[in-house]
Amino acid sequence: MPNDDSVQLYDSLFALLISADQVAARVRELGAMLEQRYGDKQPIFISILSGAFVFAADLIRAFRAPCEVSFVKLSSYEGMQSSGVLQTVLGIDTTLEHRHVIVVEDIVDTGRTLHFFLAHLRAQQPASLCTVTFLRKPTAALFPVEVDFVGFDIPNRFVVGYGLDYNGLGRNLPGIYQLAEKR
Ligand code: 5GP
Repeated sequence: MPNDDSVQLYDSLFALLISADQVAARVRELGAMLEQRYGDKQPIFISILSGAFVFAADLIRAFRAPCEVSFVKLSSYEGMQSSGVLQTVLGIDTTLEHRHVIVVEDIVDTGRTLHFFLAHLRAQQPASLCTVTFLRKPTAALFPVEVDFVGFDIPNRFVVGYGLDYNGLGRNLPGIYQLAEKR
């Protein structure tokens, strides 16, 4: 596994982009911002699996007020159109009506996942709905999606770590690493 500056997964080398210390500091800030807005509202955090589980685990502990947590797994998309459709949503086991909902995402790339998931959630008429993503790429503009809180805006490169994987590996890295070169 890594020295601090790079890590090899399969045949690919990844270079450190955001250190574990930077990650931890930013998550504390995000938790404090959310606490300011939702500290008296008993929100429910909904974390999108699998990638967001590490971020969500840290974020809820940086949010020092009563809250609930739930997890969803989103299935693949249907159709070949650019406006592909979210097929199913598994896992929300509680009603969201009149709840303050905070959606936790690992990374917004095209915005497609959040765009469709938020529409699904809005239909359940929560009292409020906000989104927090740990990372965001410039391509996020492809699908119209409002992200309320962003950990880091990053270049349009494939990244791993802090919950994000490359073919199953890399989720346990405490920092964020970007694809450097292929051997
Ligand atoms: P979107 O629907 O916004 O295009 O993509 C969001 C999802 O694509 C993320 O939740 C994540 O699973 C995956 N994804 C996008 N970019 C990356 C990346 O750089 N690395 C990894 N590991 N997954 C990514």
